[in-house]
Amino acid sequence: MADTVDTVIIGGGVVGLACARALAQVGEVVWLLEAAPALGQGISSRSSEVIHAGLYYPENSLKAALCCRGRELLYEFCAARGVGHQRLGKLIVAQGEGGAPELEALKARGDALGVPGLTLLTEADLRQKAPALRGTAALWSPETGIVDSHGLMLALAGEAEAAGAQLVLQTAVTRLSLERGGVVLEGTSAGAPLTLKARRCLNAAGFGAFALARDVLDGVEGPYYAAGHYFSYGGQAPAPCLVYPLPEPGGLGIHLTLDLGGQARFGPDVAWRESEDYAFTADRECFAAAIQSYFPGLDPERLSPAYVGLRPKRVGPGAPAADFGWQAQSLEDGGGLLHLIGIESPGLTSALALGERVAAHWQEAFA
Ligand SMILES: Cc1cc2nc3c(=O)[nH]c(=O)nc-3n(C[C@H](O)[C@H](O)[C@H](O)COP(=O)(O)OP(=O)(O)OC[C@H]3O[C@@H](n4cnc5c(N)ncnc54)[C@H](O)[C@@H]3O)c2cc1C
Repeated sequence: MADTVDTVIIGGGVVGLACARALAQVGEVVWLLEAAPALGQGISSRSSEVIHAGLYYPENSLKAALCCRGRELLYEFCAARGVGHQRLGKLIVAQGEGGAPELEALKARGDALGVPGLTLLTEADLRQKAPALRGTAALWSPETGIVDSHGLMLALAGEAEAAGAQLVLQTAVTRLSLERGGVVLEGTSAGAPLTLKARRCLNAAGFGAFALARDVLDGVEGPYYAAGHYFSYGGQAPAPCLVYPLPEPGGLGIHLTLDLGGQARFGPDVAWRESEDYAFTADRECFAAAIQSYFPGLDPERLSPAYVGLRPKRVGPGAPAADFGWQAQSLEDGGGLLHLIGIESPGLTSALALGERVAAHWQEAFA
């Protein structure tokens, strides 16, 4: 007879941790199972650490709604708990005559979603704001910022535990099935076989979420792996804010981000892979050429390979961008299973809003 737990969360990345905190704080009995020996070592450990304002995503998408709400919650959370963050603002820089209409379209979309403070800049405005940058026009987003993602995950884990959640490491779920009264999870814990039954289960396993969802759902595609390389940039940063080109298929373009110490880094590109492969293969000259389109004074010698992140894509190269996957399965006799699939950017910004929405779903649909 398997042990029965009320709520099990699979995956201890930023999403699973935010959901564990939210569910524990409304009184649910929560176990979070993480395959790795430490929390937050998956997709969440290799991002740009940007708090996105929310202007890129289609109206009525989960990405738009959760990013805007998540941004507000994240700034409040970080300020109240002393988690490192800075509201640096961001410039999106366009080149040539075709760029300005794209910026106007981004601004219109952001305005419609209620993103505050978006302002179009002329070439002269841009030169004044950041003299090292070149562009024919720019969009200024004052609400964009940066966050210490590891500090954030530590704070979320601490609050989840303080509210009673059990965070269990080295515990991998290898199979899900549905049974009367709950979800059966099979796997291993510290090398020993494990079988658990949960009345309610959240699949927040990042790359692992796809295969687990396929155990109980038809038509789940992916994951497709879109790697993104980052180079750090030695010496002084070329601008005091984040700088992005116009978005490109599969990503937001090779951009400048700053860490909380003011160190500049550039990335990520989009390099499709066959598997969860973190090898650093980017060519420094290609990278430098992309950056020089908006920062002509870049010194390629100051670029040093930093790390590779991997996006969990629901669709492959060339397909239109997919929304976050949210697939809920209610069980006849109460309880249920919710899969969060393909939580790519802006998943870090959205994590607290996902927690809020999952907690509401638990009470409304899985009670
Ligand atoms: C290159 C890149 C840049 C990004 N930049 C930004 C950004 O600037 N701003 C932003 O908002 N978002 C950004 N994102 C998106 C953000 O990082 C992700 O959306 C977020 O980290 C996803 O978190 P997660 O918890 O879903 O996944 P993960 O962090 O991967 O967590 C899932 C966890 O589940 C565990 N697991 C997997 N399988 C199993 C199993 N079978 N059993 C038990 N445990 C399992 C894994 O070990 C892992 O710890 C970026 C992403 C990438 C790749």
